[in-house]
Amino acid sequence: MPMATAWNRGKYWEAHLVMPEPKKRVFVGLISLSLLILAVLVGTGWYLVQRGSRVAWWLLLMVLSAAIGFLIYGGVGILGLLVSLITGRTLPVLSRAQDTVAFALLPVALRVGALLGVDKDRIRASFIEVNNQLFRQKEKRVHPQELLILAPICLQNAACPRKVTNDIRQCRRCGRCSVGGLLELADKYGVNLAVATGGTKARQLIRDLRPQVVIAIACERDLVSGLQDARQITVGAIANQRPQGPCLNTQVDLGRVEEALQASLLE
Ligand code: SF4
Repeated sequence: MPMATAWNRGKYWEAHLVMPEPKKRVFVGLISLSLLILAVLVGTGWYLVQRGSRVAWWLLLMVLSAAIGFLIYGGVGILGLLVSLITGRTLPVLSRAQDTVAFALLPVALRVGALLGVDKDRIRASFIEVNNQLFRQKEKRVHPQELLILAPICLQNAACPRKVTNDIRQCRRCGRCSVGGLLELADKYGVNLAVATGGTKARQLIRDLRPQVVIAIACERDLVSGLQDARQITVGAIANQRPQGPCLNTQVDLGRVEEALQASLLE
C-alpha cells in the first residue's frame, strides 16, 4: 500500500508540476544564483572571522563603514524631508539626499507597511503628497513648450470612438469626459498634452518630447511607478478619481491641473 501511495504521489507531481517558462527561469535562476553567492560570501566571512583572519576583520570593518555611511546619508535625507514638510522650505544642501532617500526607501516602506497591514494605496498616496510638496518647493518654472500634461487613456469616456491616443486633436470636446477639459487647458496655456495607453507609451512620450516638467495624471500605483522612472524630471502628480472603479471612465480635478500649470509656467 505505501509503495502504491508513493507511486501515485509521483504520478500526481509528474502530471501537475509545471516548470517555469524559459523567460521566468532566467529571473528565478539569477535570484537563486545571487542568493547562493551571498550565502558563500557570508559563510566565507564567518569562517575567516572565526579563524581570526586580519583580512576578514578589515572586510568586516569596510562593510560596517559602508552601513554606517548609508545610515548617516539616510538620516540626513529623512531630516531634509522633515524640514521640508514642516517648514515648507527645501534646504538646497539636503535636497539631493532627501530625494534619493525618499525613492530608495519607498520599496522598504511598502514592505514594512504590508507587514503592519497598511493599505499600499495609502502609502503611495502619502508618497505622492510628499513628492508634490517637494515639486511645489522646487518652484521650477518653464516655458509652455517644455511642459507636458500626461493623462491615462482611462480618462476617455469608454463609449467615445475618437482615437485620442494617436492625436489628441481628435477629441471633439463634447464634455462627456475630462479629456476635453484637459485640451481646453492645454490650449489656454500653450502646453503639450498627451494621452498614454500605459507605462511604456508614457516613457516613450517623455523620451520624444523631452519635457522639463511633467504634470502626470494616473492612479496612485502608476503615478508612483512613473515617478520612479522619471526621477530626473520634475513631476507633479495628480491622482485620478475612479467613481466607476479602476481603469473605467476615470476623472480628474481640472482645478488641480490648472493650479499645477500656473505654478510651473514662467510669467
Ligand atoms: S471629451 Fe473628447 S475624448 Fe471625451 S468623450 Fe468627448 S470627444 Fe471623446
